[in-house]
Amino acid sequence: MAKSFDVVIIGAGAAGMMCAAEAGRRGRSVLVLDHAKAPGEKIRISGGGRCNFTNLHTAPANFLSQNPHFAKSALARYTPRDFVALVERYGIAWHEKTLGQLFCDDTARDIVRMLLEEMKAVGVVLRLGTEISGVDASATGFRVALAEETIDARTLVIATGGKSIPKMGATGFAYRIAEQFGLGLVETRPGLVPLTVADAAKESLGALAGLAVDVRAGCGKTTFDEAMLFTHRGLSGPAILQISSYWREGEEIRVAFEPGVDLGALLKAARRTQGRQAVQTVLGEHLPKRLAQHLAIEAALLDRSLADLSDKAIDRLVGLVSGWSLKPAGSEGYRTAEVTLGGVDTRHLDSRTMMAKAVPGLFFIGECVDVTGWLGGYNFQWAWASGFSCGQAV
Ligand code: FAD
Repeated sequence: MAKSFDVVIIGAGAAGMMCAAEAGRRGRSVLVLDHAKAPGEKIRISGGGRCNFTNLHTAPANFLSQNPHFAKSALARYTPRDFVALVERYGIAWHEKTLGQLFCDDTARDIVRMLLEEMKAVGVVLRLGTEISGVDASATGFRVALAEETIDARTLVIATGGKSIPKMGATGFAYRIAEQFGLGLVETRPGLVPLTVADAAKESLGALAGLAVDVRAGCGKTTFDEAMLFTHRGLSGPAILQISSYWREGEEIRVAFEPGVDLGALLKAARRTQGRQAVQTVLGEHLPKRLAQHLAIEAALLDRSLADLSDKAIDRLVGLVSGWSLKPAGSEGYRTAEVTLGGVDTRHLDSRTMMAKAVPGLFFIGECVDVTGWLGGYNFQWAWASGFSCGQAV
């Protein structure tokens, strides 16, 4: 006879483990299945090994979704403070790095261990290294087919994440199941990902590779004030990862170097006191020298004395520094993307419980849903919040 559980959760990642612990705490028999050999692998590598596990400033506005209201209910049900309280109960030391981003002092493994203990304490069964051959509706709920057995589930939770980093076991499983049960999908694309430039730009920007600079990066109406990194293949760093989620192929991104500084006034004043100096030398007092040189070349003002520049020429140079633009050729794709944008269409899900409106007993949580956070701990907070809300409903 097939083994039977109240709740079967596919995916032992952030959302799946949080959901399992909460469902188990409510007395449900819970089985968690994962094809990976270890649970929470993305947690383990996240935040440079220290896991940026939440963001104190989490608000619905920090998420991209076709329905900006969808995330509100779950985010209100389980807040960053709730997760911090859990972390503190386990004596895990943490610190705020910047912009409300909370990291483990020691290692991201502490978060994985904490979730495993939470599950164990309430009797959750975890089976790793388990391939799922298929899922079907049954008279009592769902039937999950494994290689050599089938498992009956009254409730089925899909928590298999997105397509980001296939090397780590990411699959499109959730999207296939959603389609199988007639749920719509929002087109998926890589998010929080470095952007690449065309070969010609690669050559001219090559001299800047490795340089990090504070910028305001923008695309459309969205801007982020964070660091940008020039790479051998294009642009990266937090500002670019953030803007990559808003960027669409063919669009330009705008970059303001030294945002908030009135460079025009500074240069015009310098023209009186340092008029004999070259443009790039004076610019290099406000920007990294390599970048100042590059911008002077782009402005066709290399080696020109500041005193020779008219107000108009200075304004043109300032326009370039504060409104540098570039049309990326593409992105580094799912190979390095931290998240997958799009996913299970929220119109088909109940925002309070994450259950498919037309398929009672079938739930989708975490990254596979069309809710994607900014860089900075927001994606884990969505995983905890959607997992918890579902765990309370199953
Ligand atoms: P996942 O954590 O991806 O878990 C999905 C699970 O499902 C995995 O265990 C996988 O093995 C399993 N699975 C997949 N397909 C199948 C299948 N067919 N059968 C069985 N099992 C399957 N977010 C932050 O908020 N802060 C950070 O610091 C941060 N750093 C990151 C760093 C990197 C390098 C990456 C890639 C992502 C980072 N993220 C970060 C994003 C964050 O990791 C994800 O948003 C989060 O893990 C999503 O949780 P999830 O439970 O939905 O999916």
